[in-house]
Amino acid sequence: AKYTKKQIIELVEEEDVEFIRLQFTDMFGMFKNVAITSSQLKKALDNQCMFDGSSIDGFVRIEESDMYLYPDLDTLEIFPWRPQQGKVARLICDIYRPDGTPFEGDPRFILKRALKEAASMGYTFNAGPECEFFLYHSDDDGLPTTLSHEKAGYFDMAPLDLGENARRDMVLTLEEMGFEVEASHHEVAPAQHEIDFRYDEALSTADNIMTFKLAVKTIAKRHGLHATFMPKPKYGINGSGMHINMSLSKDGKNVFADPVDALGLSEEAYYFIGGIIRHMKGMTAITNPLVNSYKRLVPGFEAPVYIAWSATNRSPLIRIPAARGEETRIELRSPDPTANPYLALAVCLAAGLDGIKNKIKPPRSVDKNIFHMSVDEKEEEGIDSLPSNLREAVRELEKDEFIRGVLGEHLAKRYIQAKKAEWQDYTTQVTDWEVDHYLSKF
Ligand code: GLU
Ligand code: MG
Ligand code: MG
Repeated sequence: AKYTKKQIIELVEEEDVEFIRLQFTDMFGMFKNVAITSSQLKKALDNQCMFDGSSIDGFVRIEESDMYLYPDLDTLEIFPWRPQQGKVARLICDIYRPDGTPFEGDPRFILKRALKEAASMGYTFNAGPECEFFLYHSDDDGLPTTLSHEKAGYFDMAPLDLGENARRDMVLTLEEMGFEVEASHHEVAPAQHEIDFRYDEALSTADNIMTFKLAVKTIAKRHGLHATFMPKPKYGINGSGMHINMSLSKDGKNVFADPVDALGLSEEAYYFIGGIIRHMKGMTAITNPLVNSYKRLVPGFEAPVYIAWSATNRSPLIRIPAARGEETRIELRSPDPTANPYLALAVCLAAGLDGIKNKIKPPRSVDKNIFHMSVDEKEEEGIDSLPSNLREAVRELEKDEFIRGVLGEHLAKRYIQAKKAEWQDYTTQVTDWEVDHYLSKF
């Protein structure tokens, strides 16, 4: 571990930390926390801090509500945006039952279980996200809007742009928190931004995604802006994705690379792609969890729609970035930043490993632009589509026993139930589109 308990106690003392937030993530990817004062730190580090699990979505029933937080000592971080006097630190926690067994509905546990499986095959799973988001103005009551005065576009320099200033501050803050920011740029749509940080082992990456989103939202607020990770906040312009770059290593070497192969990819890499393609439909309710997620997965906005892969083309679901050697990786382009990162990485890894175990060959790669192919051509190539809405995605998850198994019955059951209810609620709404199109006409 990075720190021992003793070191953490000393550090908190030296740095004059007053509050410690014990953080964990619920099934929908919401960051939750219980704040304690530093006087309670020792108790927390001894895994004695409890919370009421029945008040967290999808956790447990009232009768079995006591849950314990076991802090992961590696995750200590002092929030740089809090005052320098009476500082605030955090620890990310695992959730345990009173009998000392890990809680099977904890997303972090679900990812750990998938990583254990990988480890038993000799693999370490590395993942790096490309997280996109919009920066909008808040109104006079501090509530978020979808307004922006920004005019900048992809990679533009925009010196007078509020968003640019905020993004710069975000990057500096993230670096202060130990993130290695590799790139940050304006994205295609007005007010859309992207910040990419370096890949890491998947558990750290999932923790990092949670911390990243919190930091981005916090810094945006300081600049009077609202950062949203909503996948498609506006009709007619690009949405926000969270492409996930993935590789496996064995004994410190990237096993996806094979210089002898025509594309420079190993058998493991091909099977990994095969596994993801096989389970893609069943995984989509996890990688794209909202009603709104499916408004992004439509033609014309650089988001994937069809289930295909390519080493040369940018448009498909799975892309192989040009870098080889240790940087060899598979990029999955469907996930969006509202996915629970623990669950998303767990299903991606498990699907890929299923491909390796069962030697699932991927279909032929598609090097044409699929959006320009006719229906017949697509059929000939056997190109299927991603689920087109949340209802379809949930049905596919129900059908994919393997993916349900990766999530475990406890979470799978509750997740499916909640997503069905979300769809049901949405689908009975009367939308502006309907009123615009029908009210005067009929
Ligand atoms: N914003 C696009 C999406 O929805 C991705 C653009 C890019 O390739 O970075 O996935
Ligand atoms: Mg991008
Ligand atoms: Mg990308």
